[in-house]
Amino acid sequence: MRYMTLASALLAATAMTAPASADDHLKIVDEPLELTIQMNHARYPRYKEDWPVEQEARALTNIHLVDTTVGSNLRTDENSGKTEALNLMLASGEIPDIVGSSRLKDFVNQYGPEGAFLPLNDLIEEHAPHLKAFFEERPEIKSAISAADGNMYYIPYLPDGKYGRAYFIRYDWLETLGLEVPENVDELKATLEAFRDQDPNGNGQKDEVPFFARQWPELIRLVTLWDGRSSGSDTYHDFYVDEGQLKHPYAGEGYREGIKNLAEWYAEGLIDAEIFTRGNSSREYLLSENLGGMTHDWFASTSGYNTSLQDKVNGFLFKAFAPPASISGKRIEEHRRIPIKPDGWAIGYTNEHPVETIKYFDFWFSEEGRRLANFGAEGQHYTMVDGEPKFTEEVLTSGEPVNSQLWAAGAQLQARGYYQDYDYEKQWSNEYALEGIALYDQGDYLIDQFLGVAFTVDEQKVYDKYWGSIRDYMLERQQAWILGNGDVEAEWDEYIAELEQRGLGEVLTVMQSAYERQYSDS
Ligand code: CA
Repeated sequence: MRYMTLASALLAATAMTAPASADDHLKIVDEPLELTIQMNHARYPRYKEDWPVEQEARALTNIHLVDTTVGSNLRTDENSGKTEALNLMLASGEIPDIVGSSRLKDFVNQYGPEGAFLPLNDLIEEHAPHLKAFFEERPEIKSAISAADGNMYYIPYLPDGKYGRAYFIRYDWLETLGLEVPENVDELKATLEAFRDQDPNGNGQKDEVPFFARQWPELIRLVTLWDGRSSGSDTYHDFYVDEGQLKHPYAGEGYREGIKNLAEWYAEGLIDAEIFTRGNSSREYLLSENLGGMTHDWFASTSGYNTSLQDKVNGFLFKAFAPPASISGKRIEEHRRIPIKPDGWAIGYTNEHPVETIKYFDFWFSEEGRRLANFGAEGQHYTMVDGEPKFTEEVLTSGEPVNSQLWAAGAQLQARGYYQDYDYEKQWSNEYALEGIALYDQGDYLIDQFLGVAFTVDEQKVYDKYWGSIRDYMLERQQAWILGNGDVEAEWDEYIAELEQRGLGEVLTVMQSAYERQYSDS
């Protein structure tokens, strides 16, 4: 079923009478073809036909997307799992021609094999040269998004740029205390002790908070300094791959050693006493009050405090430093941007134009389409300078974050399958972020990521049966040990036995079989 509102009819008419582009090599159909779309995302709860990017895509391709989103009025808390709108759509009995959403992967990999979404492999092979070339170049991405039946059911949003989080420290405090940047875990401990004891903020009070984090799992991340792991991906507490074997970080020896030491650091006042409860505002508060010394957080937003606190905190300099060497001398940065998100778009099974639709998906991977998806509309958001898109001064200096402006224009939509261009972000990253990224690039500290698996129905049952209880127990013991309620060394054997009792072995077995099936070709 398609419907058209008066407004969208007018807009469509406008687009049709717009001057024809000088060259129509991107036209998919001769006459405008309407395709319905469900697009739900926290930042844009429905697809807007008047987005400049949609208007430009219409002019270039002759495909007109028509919004039929179900569930766009859900409150954020009702959509906290991010799939409520998809469930409502499914319950409505009608699946639009195109379905775009955050958290789409598990949904289409479950309902695709049951017939609700079209498999894309053959369509891509025959009709989508840009997508075909992309997946040939990045077979691990094809593996990562494929369902248990081997088919791809969605085209993902593919983030660009490798770097996410980094270690940040108060360089001005180091200078005040006559210290160098800590190079290893022992020097780091000595530095945090100096922050605690030597009044680097100069107010005569012992009020400094040496290590803090907005997200408490960033404290657990420090187990990497004792050769442990905290996660295998950009999702906290995730499994990781060690030489082809799926493992869980919270069952490893390095983790045990790390937790033992972090519990000591906590007891000694080197870690924020409120690390588990202070929450998202801790960075803003502890930096602007001149109290926080070190954290592990995102390059761009954390570097931004050097600008925003320039006038408030005298001499403030909070910059990235290289990951300190672990007890065995390894320097790793465990966090990185994942190359592929579970967000993107898929083709509903009742779509009568699958060929045109896959060509439309392919358009967004062409040079022109990728530019449109990343930079918005030419003239309005960017201009071409020496063959490269550059944001206009107006966009860069409007005071509103560039990404927010782009979402409002229909660009950088994670619920659209597209390949991000890191240059879009680089153009508005501050100098401290770029300096930090250069430092991390030089040291090559990033490690490989686990890109996830798609379970068969039977594997899923095993995972669902055991994993929740195992995870709850792991996190409960983890926090207790850090807070000094119990002793990780003394309780370790009992802990491992309890994990086995709760089914960790069974979960790892299905993870391993899914992993081997999924990644054997890449
Ligand atoms: Ca002080």
